[in-house]
Amino acid sequence: MIETIIPAVFIFIVGAAFGSFFNVCIYRIPIKESIIFPNSHCPSCNYKIKPWHNIPIFSYLLLKGRCSNCSAKIHWHYFLVELITPIAFVSIFLIYGFSLITIKYMLFTSFGIIIIFIDLFHKIIPDKLSLPLLFIGLLISFYPGMDVNWKSSFIGSGAAFMFFLGIAYLFQLMTKRESLGGGDIKLIAAIGAFTGIPGVAFTIFFSSFLALIILIPLGHDRQKEFPFGPFLVIGAFTFVFFGSKLFSLYLNLF
Ligand SMILES: [Zn+2]
Repeated sequence: MIETIIPAVFIFIVGAAFGSFFNVCIYRIPIKESIIFPNSHCPSCNYKIKPWHNIPIFSYLLLKGRCSNCSAKIHWHYFLVELITPIAFVSIFLIYGFSLITIKYMLFTSFGIIIIFIDLFHKIIPDKLSLPLLFIGLLISFYPGMDVNWKSSFIGSGAAFMFFLGIAYLFQLMTKRESLGGGDIKLIAAIGAFTGIPGVAFTIFFSSFLALIILIPLGHDRQKEFPFGPFLVIGAFTFVFFGSKLFSLYLNLF
């Protein structure tokens, strides 16, 4: 028990610090600012944020979500990302234990969390994120003992890429409108590289299902505002966090 709790607490703290860094990425990557320099500043008043006002989770709560200098509201994603990142990291550790698979999925969720919010706010999935993710996913599959071997990784990635490209092409032909963007197509290839054939198939079905139930009640105009990237990432996360359990549940039916 204690051998699990101590690393889990440590991973939570490290995860919260990473979450704080991901917020910087979410804010700066789309506006092409450096993610390393300069130090964080309030987007409203440019006040340089003091280190003790930059403690993940706690600072947001202590400052009640406002800038300590000008009281401008700090966007809710800062708090959410600082909270979900450590929860995701600890969950991955509890599922996959001390292994390279844990590192693999921590990397995957890191990119995934940043992509969800950038796509949500800016409706883009930067190549800077999707392409490295794709290459890391393919490369890591060559390592012996991975949950997804290189064949499943390459086929899952390639097949999903072709499938999305085909849908995008057909949709464009039929409606003269863009459905899946290039960013979504590269993202699904990266998801395929990490989760293999079963994972990417699950992701496509589950994210489409999720998009349908969430978007249908919204009406035509609001539907168009919604990016598909967050649905894809959440579909893939569902597989990473619950996939093996869902899979064995399904196999037990027979
Ligand atoms: Zn301020």
